[in-house]
Amino acid sequence: MAAVDAVIVGGGCVGASVAYHLAEAGYADIVLLEADTLASGSTSKAAGGIRLQHGDALNVRLAQRSLAELMDFEQLTGAEISFRQVGYLFLLSSPSDLAMFGQSVALQQSLGVPVRTLSPEQAGELVPQLRTEDLLGATFCPSDGYATPEAVVQGYAAAARRRGVVIRQGERVRRIVTEHGRVQAVETERGERIATSTVICTAGTGSRAIAATAEVDLPVSPERRRLFFTSHSGGIADDVPLTIDFATGFYFHREGPGLVFGGREVTAEDLMTPATHRLPVIVDAPLTSTWHGDYDMSPDHNAMVGRSAHLEGFYYATGFSGHGFQLSPAVGEHLAELVTGRQPSIDLTPFRVERFAEVGGSRVEPIVV
Ligand SMILES: Cc1cc2nc3c(=O)[nH]c(=O)nc-3n(C[C@H](O)[C@H](O)[C@H](O)COP(=O)(O)OP(=O)(O)OC[C@H]3O[C@@H](n4cnc5c(N)ncnc54)[C@H](O)[C@@H]3O)c2cc1C
Repeated sequence: MAAVDAVIVGGGCVGASVAYHLAEAGYADIVLLEADTLASGSTSKAAGGIRLQHGDALNVRLAQRSLAELMDFEQLTGAEISFRQVGYLFLLSSPSDLAMFGQSVALQQSLGVPVRTLSPEQAGELVPQLRTEDLLGATFCPSDGYATPEAVVQGYAAAARRRGVVIRQGERVRRIVTEHGRVQAVETERGERIATSTVICTAGTGSRAIAATAEVDLPVSPERRRLFFTSHSGGIADDVPLTIDFATGFYFHREGPGLVFGGREVTAEDLMTPATHRLPVIVDAPLTSTWHGDYDMSPDHNAMVGRSAHLEGFYYATGFSGHGFQLSPAVGEHLAELVTGRQPSIDLTPFRVERFAEVGGSRVEPIVV
């Protein structure tokens, strides 16, 4: 293949969003290389949750920008993503969680998020099937919801292709070729060498290995999570919010005629203890299928996004720690701004990977499900 302006490594929600935003900026002589098929990594395993309720101001701002794009997605790309804006309901049962969410709600409201705190009784009015007597409070944001992650990837990819981006699936990148502190090319597992001065690493949990070939350390690690699907909903309303029992991590939302639910436990036996405690009707909803995927964890549960300080032409976005789908529109826009030399809409320098080597550089995102 002839030399290209940029190579994107990985075609999940983040890589596809970068491709779309670069093409939108008129930077279309680029190729996206995906080892398997588009969206085959963590993206297709996600619950599709989209929320403005984060504890770090940068995540709130990224989420606000992403939400705006997801609300306009069909108009922008032509793709329908089944976005259901039913809200997110966080259930809180420990004094420390109540205090942390109190601070986060104040931050979110100061940034214009329509979030509010609820009493346990009000949470029970929203979802009557919940057990609420041991709750201390809850938070609810009506603009949150969920959509179909694979549809978002296909929508971005199709719109990028229409603008000239080449997307090649079944093309695993073996290494990034560097010389004199600059990116020179990528080499695929088939032995092809594609000359380029710019590589954007969006390979999810595979990012660490591919970045290491260029001697860049991206400390992202996989953490197994599982989702379960049921054939009916136990009488839970079609417009029930995405509901999360924050202390245990158990969460659910409607999916077709039934429910999808998950949590920190990865076996049905272990998960059913917190699930039946919070949502007793779940025992009557037969399981029909399940899948697992990997959260893309970073050391402080915030993403790593930026341009390498040590290798010219190397850009990256990974380590979203379970909230990468919902932030991918704004992160793709941000990387496109960096690559094309435009002023970033949001200053994400606190998310650069070099923070981990700096005293006090880490910044913890506390609302990780
Ligand atoms: C069970 C579960 C539930 C989740 N729920 C949510 C949720 O509700 N909301 C939310 O926002 N997030 C959620 N997440 C997290 C979300 O899925 C991830 O943060 C997000 O998908 C990361 O996107 P990505 O594009 O960075 O990575 P990925 O989707 O993993 O994409 C990376 C791609 O890179 C490719 N690749 C890897 N190595 C190479 C290589 N060497 N060459 C070429 N290609 C390569 C892979 O094949 C893959 O397709 C959930 C995750 C799981 C597992």
